[in-house]
Amino acid sequence: GGALIVIGAGHAGTELAVQAREAGWPGAIRLVGDETALPYHRPPLSKAYLAGTATLDSLHLKARATLEKAGVELLQGRRVQALDPAARRVAFEDGSSIGYARLALATGGRPRPLPAAIAGAAEDADNFHYLRTLADVDRIRRHFAPGARVAIVGGGYIGLEVAAVAIKAGLKVTVLEAADRVLARVTAPRVSSFYEQVHREAGVDLRIGVQVDGFELDAARRRVTGVHCADGERLACDLVIVGIGIVPNTELAAAAGLAVDDGIRIDACARTSDPHIVAAGDCTRFDSALYGRSVRLESVPNALEQARSAAAALLGHERPFEIAPWFWSDQYDLKLKMVGLSQGHDQFLLRGSVEQRSFSAFYLKGERVIAVDTVNRPAEFMLARRIVGERRVIPPERLVDDGAPLKSLLQ
Ligand code: FAD
Repeated sequence: GGALIVIGAGHAGTELAVQAREAGWPGAIRLVGDETALPYHRPPLSKAYLAGTATLDSLHLKARATLEKAGVELLQGRRVQALDPAARRVAFEDGSSIGYARLALATGGRPRPLPAAIAGAAEDADNFHYLRTLADVDRIRRHFAPGARVAIVGGGYIGLEVAAVAIKAGLKVTVLEAADRVLARVTAPRVSSFYEQVHREAGVDLRIGVQVDGFELDAARRRVTGVHCADGERLACDLVIVGIGIVPNTELAAAAGLAVDDGIRIDACARTSDPHIVAAGDCTRFDSALYGRSVRLESVPNALEQARSAAAALLGHERPFEIAPWFWSDQYDLKLKMVGLSQGHDQFLLRGSVEQRSFSAFYLKGERVIAVDTVNRPAEFMLARRIVGERRVIPPERLVDDGAPLKSLLQ
């Protein structure tokens, strides 16, 4: 058989390569990635690894021996520059190229940059960072000294997780969020205000409705020294971390003529518009049967599910990947786990106690539960996955009755 080439050695690409062998791919499997580290878990980057409590070894997705045993050839530090679907070849930056029988795109995403008009020369400063890769965090950690003033741009998951770690490490932390609340894209106002309160109690200077419009620079020393806000405020800082979302890496696919629409379009089994190419992970977009619209997800569970479907598809099997999307975030002693997509909900219900930091938030559309956020309620999260995935209708008065176990509602 011919070779399978997988582009991108993150969660999706690594799982896809190993699963393709498991499923019986007979030929060579080449896993190409532009990063130099052995494929690693990304979520700890803004959590335990940033805090210094996780070692590099504990981050690896698969041991080198596991990849070798599966016959997965890892091409690290190699960046693919172009695809030629007609000739079935991929070209590298250095001008070399290799052929494939089947191709998998698992190119993920990159940090959404601040507009150039705002970031300006700050982009090149040594203390101005985005946070996506292990290399990013290794650079950030060099500035992570007690007493250092860090300005975090963006009050999403990454900004808030970094804030929690930084406060614990003794830094002076300011979070600047442009929207009128944190986590606005993913949760209800009640959950946002809870997180705002927790951060403020921990000592974070959390500012909402604040637009960053420029930076102050010490050009000679290549350092950002301050942040300018649209309301005229100026904040002195020693470190800037920007977390304002990602942009999917779709350029290779688009240039090769594949269907792309803010994500490489894939069907329910992870097949692209080219019969020889599959795709998986943060770089994809698909029509969600659960939500009746197209979605692009940014989460590890989605990357792994799609990778398994893509591996099956390479062997000619149809394995639909859609599960109720889920995600987690760790901040302080809070384990937030969310399932489903809450956009478009028309009812919001709380179960448990926000004050006691143990609650579940239900999002309903009509009678159906379309999403659930749980805080420090792991057992309810497992049940919530079933409620959302199975499109359950449960009377609101029973959802909010914390005295009756959620489990009894599922019988
Ligand atoms: P990626 O992990 O982005 O991997 C793609 C790889 O392809 C990258 O290494 C990239 O450099 C490489 N690549 C791209 N283009 C090329 C090319 N042309 N040639 C060669 N290589 C290329 N998700 C959760 O579910 N829970 C969490 O708690 C959580 N926390 C997170 C915290 C942080 C700090 C970050 C950054 C993300 C977090 N996520 C979390 C999101 C999760 O990490 C992503 O959804 C997941 O990593 C997506 O995997 P992927 O393989 O699709 O893409």
